[in-house]
Amino acid sequence: MTTRRKLVVGNWKMHGSHAANAELLQGILAARPFAAADVAVCAPFPYLSEVAVTLANSGVAWGAQDVSAHAQGAYTGEVSAAMLQEFGCRFAIVGHSERRAYHGETDQQVADKAQAALSKGLTPIVCVGETLAQREAGETEAVVKRQLSAVIHTLGQCIGEIVVAYEPVWAIGTGRTASPEQAQAVHAVLRAQLAAATARAADMKLLYGGSVKPDNAAILFSQADIDGGLIGGAALKAADFVAIARAAG
Ligand code: PEP
Repeated sequence: MTTRRKLVVGNWKMHGSHAANAELLQGILAARPFAAADVAVCAPFPYLSEVAVTLANSGVAWGAQDVSAHAQGAYTGEVSAAMLQEFGCRFAIVGHSERRAYHGETDQQVADKAQAALSKGLTPIVCVGETLAQREAGETEAVVKRQLSAVIHTLGQCIGEIVVAYEPVWAIGTGRTASPEQAQAVHAVLRAQLAAATARAADMKLLYGGSVKPDNAAILFSQADIDGGLIGGAALKAADFVAIARAAG
């Protein structure tokens, strides 16, 4: 029997300012220790430096919301895994549905980004999830399996080193959360797919994301295959994020 420690990650998206970040981080730091969960925040690139200074040796980790698939070169606007490593990032979110939808990221590009992150010792948090139309068409399982399959094939045995976040697109930022049963059902599918690829599947962390709030976090996190959450809107208020991190216990 494996006991997977929970992981709660804040995705700040394109929010923040020097002042707002300082207040948010101080609120999180003041609530330590988090007995039942590892906690991290994924900040916009320009703020990684100050996040690194504020969170150094705090027990709260940090990461980025994207990473280039390329190591270096003429890729204007992109940020490499080596750069993120220099700023102490432990995580890089890849394949968030907003990047898939607004930047046309393909399953293979997401897989390549995950590989780039791993190559520099960062843990990619690989997001998968179906749209409402896909769910209503009964395609949820096929969609998430296709998205994860590209990552499995690209990473080979290194697949055991990633974190997966199941984020139904229809639940992100909408206030509409997947029910614990809906989320668990998809997590079980994903873990079974991982188990076919690696002996480490039982130890891997599968996060749920999509309108997680203080009042629904505990029931979601208590599902057998849900190992924590990727938190968007509720990660911007220290009190809410802290309550969610505490709900993991
Ligand atoms: C997200 O964007 O990763 C997310 C889960 O957002 P929200 O919690 O706001 O739905």
